[in-house]
Amino acid sequence: MGNSCSGKPAAVPREPAPPARRRRTTSPLADARLSIAGGRPSVATKRMSDVSELTESDVSEQSEWDALLAQPAEETAVRVAIRSRPQIDGESATSLRGNHVSVGDTDFGPFDATLNDHSTQKATYDGIARNVVEQALRGFHGCVMAYGATGSGKTHAMAGERGDAGIVSRAIAQVFAVSGAEIDETHTRVECTYVEIYREQVRDLLQGDAGASENAPPPPPRGRALQAGNRTPPRAKTPPRCKTPPPQKQPRIREDERRGVFVDGCTRTRCRSAEECIDAFRAGSRRRAVRGTAKNDRSSRSHAVFTLELTRTTTRGAATVTQASRLHLVDLAGSERVKESKVMGDGVREAGNINQSLMVLGNVVTALEDKASKRRRGDVAGAARVHVPYRDAKLTRLLQDALGGNAYAAILCCVSRAAADASHTTSTLRFASRLKSVTTAPRKNLDPKDMEILRLRRENAKLRAALVDDGMRL
Ligand code: ADP
Ligand code: MG
Repeated sequence: MGNSCSGKPAAVPREPAPPARRRRTTSPLADARLSIAGGRPSVATKRMSDVSELTESDVSEQSEWDALLAQPAEETAVRVAIRSRPQIDGESATSLRGNHVSVGDTDFGPFDATLNDHSTQKATYDGIARNVVEQALRGFHGCVMAYGATGSGKTHAMAGERGDAGIVSRAIAQVFAVSGAEIDETHTRVECTYVEIYREQVRDLLQGDAGASENAPPPPPRGRALQAGNRTPPRAKTPPRCKTPPPQKQPRIREDERRGVFVDGCTRTRCRSAEECIDAFRAGSRRRAVRGTAKNDRSSRSHAVFTLELTRTTTRGAATVTQASRLHLVDLAGSERVKESKVMGDGVREAGNINQSLMVLGNVVTALEDKASKRRRGDVAGAARVHVPYRDAKLTRLLQDALGGNAYAAILCCVSRAAADASHTTSTLRFASRLKSVTTAPRKNLDPKDMEILRLRRENAKLRAALVDDGMRL
């Protein structure tokens, strides 16, 4: 990977701040009187202006609530972009034309975006991630993931290099540009977690940082790059903040009805600024397992999942709505052939685990593709019977919502154009083409208690309006 993983990530890019929101002055009572349907004043609501004036701003506030609470009616396709890394030398076998990519005579596409050797990190961010981050700020879970063979540019795209921020820093900047501009009715709390899946174990990369949770697990048994063929990884130093760590348990992947699938027992760091968040990402990236191989001198040996948890509370009048969303930013380890990467010992076992979990990811996508095609043909029962093997690997279990459930998902497939890498590129593009038919069903994650209170307030407003219609003075 680039410099970021060695602890020198790019500076936080500046996002233009959105215009600050106007301060609201409506009273709780006025709020309760708003019309119920579609933000337009009903007859009943108009009659309520007898009691106290219903202003235009009340009506627009009602439609703002409706916009805030609206759920999408349809499923949405996973967004897939291809990025080719600059070629170092040798013959090229792959070319990008419009939204298509071809390897030799085989054409793949269309994809949602293609980014060539000269595409900037900003263009990559805009092409794949910006919309998912926007949706996360609206209360939807999201996932942006980099996929591809080892050395194809996944870590470069996600973490960036010094002075050339990647997707993670840009997503953090976008989140804080919005949350930093809130002055009144909406407040956003940002927390992050950072885990890696290394040889089928979930490890906490933020363990030992400020904000470490009581039950955070011990640090991974390595803290710096392993060299190719090095059989005994160096011991990580005991983190200075945790001299005698209490008995700890491993982070576990769990699921509940309200939160969906999440990692339990890992450090959750509160971030009050983009810089704090970047620092947490930087510290975690330094702990990530990397190894020098013949294909990449800093090859990531684990799947890394950096997650921003956003809790946005909007208060208008006496009503409050809380949206809680999770945004996974995933840098996968790349598939590798041991005879090309020339790793030995632990390196071989790592490659085996990486390839195994990527194979499960491929099986999950095949099953989701099958499900989607049955649904398109109207075979709803057949679609429901398709087994998706999420539980066959920690990676797919953790990303279950992102892949086929409640989330907006975008996958950046990284490829090399070199003729020597043509078979890797072909298999990445096949995977990308299959992903194109996968759909997810994102739902806004609203606090059910708030929704019940809001429903009761609306019911109350309806009843009051009906009484006024009947000529009663309230
Ligand atoms: P991966 O994570 O897919 O194994 P890396 O992101 O570590 O691969 O990339 C391997 C090398 O190639 C790194 O030195 C990185 O800086 C370089 N690289 C990859 N993609 C690009 C790109 N688009 N522009 C410049 N350098 C790149
Ligand atoms: Mg990498």
